[in-house]
Amino acid sequence: MRLPKPLEHLIEQLQKLPGIGPKNAQRLGLFLLRLPQGEAEAIAEAILEAKKRIFPCPQCGNLTDTSPCSICTDETRRQDLLCVTEDASDVLAMERAGYRGQYVVLEKALNLMDIQDWANMDLSRLKSRLKSGKVQEVILALNPDIDGEVISRMIAAQAMQFGVRVTRLAHGLPVGGDIQFADEITLRQALEGRKEILT
Ligand SMILES: [Zn+2]
Repeated sequence: MRLPKPLEHLIEQLQKLPGIGPKNAQRLGLFLLRLPQGEAEAIAEAILEAKKRIFPCPQCGNLTDTSPCSICTDETRRQDLLCVTEDASDVLAMERAGYRGQYVVLEKALNLMDIQDWANMDLSRLKSRLKSGKVQEVILALNPDIDGEVISRMIAAQAMQFGVRVTRLAHGLPVGGDIQFADEITLRQALEGRKEILT
């Protein structure tokens, strides 16, 4: 059976969402069709409105609808801590974890295999933060993979030129994990990031 063209098109579009395969896209498509007209329009409008009004903050690169963003303008936050993340969802995760300093968001997941990514990597926000002289510590919160590792070293080299301390999140074993099943890199990083037990 062939689906009606507009439904087929809707399913095709939904498959572009992360983690949505053909079956889920079909289920979502049918769900949207069953919604009352007003609710379906509200979803469509919310997507368009967000696309229209949200942009990267000129100072930190985090997504915002004000310039600069509410984090950059919040004077109660620490000015001496600067956390570098790969994208805006990492900022949300850091906020949930209780971090209350500044950010620089690199905006895109970088792929070492793609030389263009290196050429296009914009470190201007990082450099202007470092030049401001307020930052005492750069905290690298990049993903614990090979790309994150290389980018971390590159950024660390930049920050050290300004005499700024550079740290990174300790990587290691997940809570509830089992040492015998940990891969080599995870276990090595856990060993490097080991901490004294304070009693
Ligand atoms: Zn900002």
